[in-house]
Amino acid sequence: MAKLIDGKAISAQIKEECKERVAKLKEEGIEVTLAVIQVGNDPASTVYVGNKKKACAYIGIRSLAYELPEETTQEELLALIGELNGRKDVNGILVQLPLPKHIDEEKVLDTIDPAKDVDGFHPQNVGALCIGKKGFVSCTPAGIIQLLKRSDIEIAGKECVVIGRSNIVGKPMALLLLRENGTVTVAHSRTRDLKEITKRADILIVAIGKPKMITADYVKEGAVVIDVGIHRNENNKLCGDVDFESVAPHCSAITPVPGGVGPMTIAMLMHNCVESAS
Ligand code: NAP
Repeated sequence: MAKLIDGKAISAQIKEECKERVAKLKEEGIEVTLAVIQVGNDPASTVYVGNKKKACAYIGIRSLAYELPEETTQEELLALIGELNGRKDVNGILVQLPLPKHIDEEKVLDTIDPAKDVDGFHPQNVGALCIGKKGFVSCTPAGIIQLLKRSDIEIAGKECVVIGRSNIVGKPMALLLLRENGTVTVAHSRTRDLKEITKRADILIVAIGKPKMITADYVKEGAVVIDVGIHRNENNKLCGDVDFESVAPHCSAITPVPGGVGPMTIAMLMHNCVESAS
């Protein structure tokens, strides 16, 4: 049976490290501050924002909550971001996605000062990742690198296959694995012979958004499998993009859902907030 990669334990470790760094910064007179903006009251977004505020409170980060009504105009939102960009006491700015349809998401994300872009979505930070410069990295893929490193899984020289090419997960994931000297292939919905490609992977990262799509016949014996997907099944239980029951017996290590990649995203957001103030 595969080793379970324990995202709960690893994320707790990262949060403790952040807590210590926040305390040290406080001694130096720096209060790490994150501004969290939510527009409208999408219930899932409210849950995510609540979890981020809770994590901030636990770590000692001051969070400023901006809960704006659904009718907020793009100009109003851009003006708020402009104001927060200019405030010396605000280190990080996070705009919870998705935004209401009348607001141009790209324009909003591009307006955040790259030095305060703790989500790592600004083109300047994405570009920095691309050419190996310092910058904020999208939290979920950054968390996956931590899961691998802290589980003593070597990336250098390994065949890494990423399924999914979203801007938030797949693409930055591929760039990070490349930065760690993996040999990287990116697959997507137009990929032919997907199984042939995934069966080459020593490390298989699955970010498709299709419940339990990856079964044992996609996986090489002894591979490491990282499941980014998160869904509720017919019994209201959480599951991933990987069919855990059939895949786990064939892997050397695998992330469970829940308790794998999920908890790492917030932990890395906290890490980015601390970095923004350091
Ligand atoms: P996304 O934007 O929908 O991207 C999905 C990717 O999968 C696309 O690149 C798509 O290809 C590819 N794809 C779709 N069907 C495919 C198929 N049959 N074969 C091969 N590739 C296929 O999703 P995302 O934002 O990257 O998220 C992926 C999953 O991770 C979702 O379940 C999401 O809920 C979850 N997620 C979890 C966390 C976390 O913290 N745990 C964070 C973010 C996302 P095309 O580009 O060709 O369309």
